[in-house]
Amino acid sequence: MAIHIDPDRVWQHLMRLSEFRDASSPGWTRRAFTPEYQAARQWLKDLMTSAGLEVTWDPGANLVGSHTGSVPTRFVVGSHSDTVIGAGRFDGMLGVIAAIECAHVLHENGWPFRHGLHVYDFLAEEPSPYGVSTVGSRAVSGHLPPNLLSLRNSRGETLAEGIRGAGGDPAVLSKPLLAGDDIAAYLELHIEQGPSLESHKLPLGIVTGIVGIRRYRVMIEGSPGHAGTTPMGARHDALVAASTIVTQVHQWAAKQVGNIAATVGQIEIQPNALNVIPGTSTLGIEVRALDADHLDRFTSFLGDIVSSLKTHHDYETSIFETTRENPALMDTAIRRTMGEVFRHQGWEHIELPSWAGHDAVQMTHVSSRCGMIFVPSRGGLSHCPEEWTEPRDVALGAQALLQSILRLDRDIN
Ligand SMILES: [Zn+2]
Repeated sequence: MAIHIDPDRVWQHLMRLSEFRDASSPGWTRRAFTPEYQAARQWLKDLMTSAGLEVTWDPGANLVGSHTGSVPTRFVVGSHSDTVIGAGRFDGMLGVIAAIECAHVLHENGWPFRHGLHVYDFLAEEPSPYGVSTVGSRAVSGHLPPNLLSLRNSRGETLAEGIRGAGGDPAVLSKPLLAGDDIAAYLELHIEQGPSLESHKLPLGIVTGIVGIRRYRVMIEGSPGHAGTTPMGARHDALVAASTIVTQVHQWAAKQVGNIAATVGQIEIQPNALNVIPGTSTLGIEVRALDADHLDRFTSFLGDIVSSLKTHHDYETSIFETTRENPALMDTAIRRTMGEVFRHQGWEHIELPSWAGHDAVQMTHVSSRCGMIFVPSRGGLSHCPEEWTEPRDVALGAQALLQSILRLDRDIN
């Protein structure tokens, strides 16, 4: 049976969803926990209902539309409908609308669901006013401990109160809302938010994984002194030392083979005065890679260059790791199946990593069977009003999601 998504309906729903926005902010802004966000989710709830789904709010205030199957395990398919300030119309929304469309056409065609199909609009994927992101998918994976639930927004309300206000039940979030045994596969369609697909002139990407991130704060202590009277040979300039780290980090990452990016994005010097030799410098350094070993190699490289400033040049140095997020790998069997499905349909594609975070990261903590599909972002732009994906790519992405579900429904036990 050949089942097709309706390209016009998908596009119209996407554009309609983007109209729920904060008119006082630039672009298509719909921050989580706002009235426009709640209104959008009520509209999505009705859309899910008319797609034949049974709709509930789970304890994490995720909007969930469900279709039962004949076996106990289900496909979890979704993304998010909240945005950053000054957002576009595709990031997250595409994955939610496409998932609802898949459910809709399967329902219309009387598809005999073997696995259940549960469509998720995850609560607050973007950084929320409470300082935490991927709130709803964290609730699903059991990664919302009390110290996060008690974080407060600028009005002094806790995240727990925010979740309750959005329709959830924070009292039961100490345990994961889903177990690995509940899930046949987690699938998410998303825009790439980068330039790879466009530069390859390809309409589809299969995500290999979402890169891990480590962040460091490095402090270097030299000696401040008079910028005129201190002889050049007698200086102990903390900014000159820091500049060697900036250069070496860049050069090291640039010559690596594989997916890695390292950036010194912050620098502070003291006393930061035109006529004083810098006495201390503090650097903020970030590295992202798909391969945990690669991240380890960077960590030891950074440790080496920082300690050589101490041993060879007599600076006082310290290094703190401030963030450690492991890479989230997509399932190789699902990637292979998607590749076969796409080839069979004649859809050109590549495999590529995701350099940005997604709800899929949290879902890998629940189930190893996760897969993501990317469609191109014009100019690689995202998180801005110029964010754009061509209607034909939107349609192909939704159809690719549908074909993947159909094939996996047959293949997975
Ligand atoms: Zn997103």
